[in-house]
Amino acid sequence: MKPLQQLVRPNIWALKPYSSARDEYHGAEASVFLDANENPYNTPYNRYPDPLQSELKAALAPLKGVRPGQIFLGNGSDEAIDLVFRIFCEPKEDNVVAIAPTYGMYKVCADINNVVYRSVLLDKDFALDADKLLAATDDRTKLVFLCSPNNPSGNDLDREEIIKVIENFQGLVVIDEAYADFSAQKPFRTELDKYPNIIVLNTFSKAWGSAGIRLGMAFAQEEIIGLFNKVKYPYNVNQLTQQQAAEMLARRFDVDKWVRVLLREREQVMAAFAELEVCEKVFPSDANFFLAKVTGADEIYAYLVRQGIIVRNRSRVELCGDCLRVTIGTPQENSRLLGALRTYKAEEGGR
Ligand SMILES: *Cc1c(COP(=O)(O)O)cnc(C)c1O
Repeated sequence: MKPLQQLVRPNIWALKPYSSARDEYHGAEASVFLDANENPYNTPYNRYPDPLQSELKAALAPLKGVRPGQIFLGNGSDEAIDLVFRIFCEPKEDNVVAIAPTYGMYKVCADINNVVYRSVLLDKDFALDADKLLAATDDRTKLVFLCSPNNPSGNDLDREEIIKVIENFQGLVVIDEAYADFSAQKPFRTELDKYPNIIVLNTFSKAWGSAGIRLGMAFAQEEIIGLFNKVKYPYNVNQLTQQQAAEMLARRFDVDKWVRVLLREREQVMAAFAELEVCEKVFPSDANFFLAKVTGADEIYAYLVRQGIIVRNRSRVELCGDCLRVTIGTPQENSRLLGALRTYKAEEGGR
């Protein structure tokens, strides 16, 4: 890995961050707060939230096997994805390299930040070839994006290939593990001390059942988290979200139970899906969704919409011709999907 200073945009390295009232006050318990121009009425919502979410990070750290200082919390993982561009990539000069197909936000954030986005196609089984990916990097490549389990394909990337990328790339490797709770593969977030050039993303939106509160996590070495903290909006995670997240951490055994139920359901739905007349192939999944190749994805998608069932039509994504992405729902929801597809008549477009 290059020295961090060489990877960070010079203006960000030199940046003196905004200092909020809540940043400046540290010390003994105070009871009269007249420092932030807040309204004294309407407690508890009258107060600005903790800008660094210290309580939440203290509770999260042991669960995730990291130190509190290795955690960034943001308005969804999407905030962390946008921040890595703003911290590391000089518009029009630097580039990033990502696998394809993958999660669409990496490219959107690259485009917004005017950073060249190079994609390297996975193979037919959506496997990663580290050498091919590394060959697309050059001296101006600041970031590599890997997503494992990958979206929309659903599979884990091979851990040895990921390690090969980490060990041979001179910049930072962003590993999006949004679906890691559903995978048997060892996550990378516990290896921050071994691999100083990784940034691992997790989210409350999937296994934690909390997409509505918008809370994403990035795990990285302390110095990198310091850069995130410098560039983020001062109060980027609101009070309601911090409270609800703490409540979810207390309910983590419910989360474990949801994951077990969804994994069992995934195996059953995938097996039943593979038996459908319209199904050509079900791709293996390590996530809470699966990708399937069908005969006539557009027609089947439209038919399902008429039945009030929405799946994701991925048929125009590279390597995903005629593919639908199906999220695992409740047993009742999954039965509705399978029932509708069993009565689909291809020659009539399901009409
Ligand atoms: C769903 C998803 C996320 C979650 O994004 P949030 O902004 O945290 O909701 C991140 N990465 C991938 C690959 C996803 O599929």
